[in-house]
Amino acid sequence: MKIEKVEFARGIRGTDPILNDTKKHFVFAGRSNVGKSSVINALLSRKDMARSSATPGKTLEINLFLVNDKFYFSDLPGYGFAKVSNKDKEQLVKMILWYLLESGAPIELVFVIVDASVGPTERDMEMIRALIDSNTPYVVIGNKIDKVNKSGRAHYEKELAKKFAPAVFIPFSAEKKIGIPDVLRVLEEKL
Ligand code: GDP
Repeated sequence: MKIEKVEFARGIRGTDPILNDTKKHFVFAGRSNVGKSSVINALLSRKDMARSSATPGKTLEINLFLVNDKFYFSDLPGYGFAKVSNKDKEQLVKMILWYLLESGAPIELVFVIVDASVGPTERDMEMIRALIDSNTPYVVIGNKIDKVNKSGRAHYEKELAKKFAPAVFIPFSAEKKIGIPDVLRVLEEKL
């Protein structure tokens, strides 16, 4: 699949007319600093479409990008951002769960981005549990795989995949451009 056109559609915090659009949502979730914006930008072959959570003043919104006039990439706020107050964190979790479970958005698939060099954290597992409990289809992207020593990588990837099984696990590096066709293939199967 080729990404030919991407436009920022809207940032939402709650119910919005855009949610009545029947185009499928492909959602990107992940802890802050896991490289979520880098992954989205790598998949879109754009430098700065999605903004990093390190960007000052980054809004705490769900950002929807219309891709090829056909489907949405949905960039969730990073969970567990240290610079956000506890009250705001609660709000964020509530908003994410509302969007995934109650908003009525046609969510086709959630890509849960984890740091492959760290492995699943408690935060990652909380998100995955919420997806399992709600029967939401998801795939795990293990970003920053470039940080894992090349010689041991194949074995390491296998062990990591076991931890996420039966979910599909895709080793990825936004920096070294590893795994992009694998993610696009999964996406294409769902279109
Ligand atoms: P976000 O907060 O999840 O959107 O993360 P960013 O995309 O801003 O990335 C956070 C940090 O991780 C930045 O310093 C990136 O350069 C770095 N990073 C992102 N992707 C990769 C990757 O594939 N490999 C490595 N080594 N670093 C990465």
